[in-house]
Amino acid sequence: MQAILTKNIKTFKHGVHPEEYKEYTKDLPIERMPFMDEIVLPLSQHSGSPSKPIVKQGEKVYRGQLIADSTGFVSATLHASVTGWVKVIEPRNHPSGQMVESIVIQTDRYSPQTLYDERELDWHSLSPQELLAVIQKAGFVGLGGAAFPTHVKLTIPEGKKAKFFMVNAAECEPYLNSDYRILLERTDAIFLGIRIYMKVLAAEKVYIGTETNKWEAIDTLGRRMPDDLPCEIVPLETKYPQGAEKMFTEAVLHREVPSGKLPIDIQVIVNNVGTVAGVGEMFKYGQPLIERVVTVTGPGIRKPANLMVPIGTKLSDVIDYCGGMNDNTRQILFGGPMMGAAQRFLDVPIMKGTSGILFLTDYQVFPREEYPCIRCMRCVDACPVFLNPSRLGALAKVRLYEEMPDYHIMDCMECGSCSYVCPSNIPLVQRFRVSKALLREKMAREEAA
Ligand code: SF4
Ligand code: SF4
Repeated sequence: MQAILTKNIKTFKHGVHPEEYKEYTKDLPIERMPFMDEIVLPLSQHSGSPSKPIVKQGEKVYRGQLIADSTGFVSATLHASVTGWVKVIEPRNHPSGQMVESIVIQTDRYSPQTLYDERELDWHSLSPQELLAVIQKAGFVGLGGAAFPTHVKLTIPEGKKAKFFMVNAAECEPYLNSDYRILLERTDAIFLGIRIYMKVLAAEKVYIGTETNKWEAIDTLGRRMPDDLPCEIVPLETKYPQGAEKMFTEAVLHREVPSGKLPIDIQVIVNNVGTVAGVGEMFKYGQPLIERVVTVTGPGIRKPANLMVPIGTKLSDVIDYCGGMNDNTRQILFGGPMMGAAQRFLDVPIMKGTSGILFLTDYQVFPREEYPCIRCMRCVDACPVFLNPSRLGALAKVRLYEEMPDYHIMDCMECGSCSYVCPSNIPLVQRFRVSKALLREKMAREEAA
């Protein structure tokens, strides 16, 4: 069926156009990764308080079984992604660089790995609150990277209304293709997810926004869109950081989310397309969030792929499955090149928020000498939230952190657009990350005093 296609290609103001490098994995269908011998499930792999184990060492667990409960409203449950035995519960290497308490499962090699509670859920018969409770129990978080618990996002504050629901499939980071493959291959799950979200939110209209480097996906969605779904597909200019929630909202609706506010303040809820598809499939098969699509890409990996990976699979196992690394690989990032986090250890697990693994070589990673600011103002033109990165960078360099809030440092979303365009190679975003962390610490100290 033909959906209503917006004729104008939309976007937000400012931003940058990095080289895309999508060709490594764009045409590779999602492939299912086998269940590896050891699975590591950190209790902290979402925004908010860590989950709490409800299983003990030596206990048999089944694929899809609840193994750790949430510890508050802003928290998420955790499920076993394989059938096996709890080997140990102990601190393990975490993609954040820290050691984090994790449930380690020894996989049962002889198990058929069927789901613990496989069944279709009749979402029609459930109230919005009951649907929300099912999503919460299934441990859903935003799969775009931030891993914010989905049930929190879908809980509308008193006095507010979510008139518009937006499916974020911008995938503006270079190299990554997991959202693109989901758009192509899990279209019906997306539509089912949209129906459930609409019922939870009582939303009147839905938008699916994706960039024009994904025309095949736009075409597929348009052809398969059910007639009764009040949903518009919005083609967006290919530009970074369009996937950031505020930029995405501005691009699709041409309405700005004010500083310090959330999309719900302008009647909008945004969710990543992978999360929406996952929720749809959960109601179809009863499968909680125990696996996700990960793009494994870059010049440093021998066989790039789009993989459906059981959450908790170790990075080293993904590397082996993809034929190993090339000899000149120098850096591994979880995420894309703009906002991805560099990894020090090969035994870190794939988490709920891991959208891609990027392997960079000598040619991409080399030390760059920093030069003085030449006041070219390219960073000002690039910043999507209209900050003055040049000024902020100068303050950070001389550690005048306390002056930075006057220049709205806390509005910086750490997108890296300013660093990307800076001809003097000034590590602006790195300095802003440190500055913000120090300022947050200072604020916490003052509040406690
Ligand atoms: S990192 Fe911060 S200052 Fe730099 S462009 Fe992004 S939002 Fe602006
Ligand atoms: S882009 Fe770099 S050199 Fe140009 S004004 Fe900004 S900080 Fe200075």
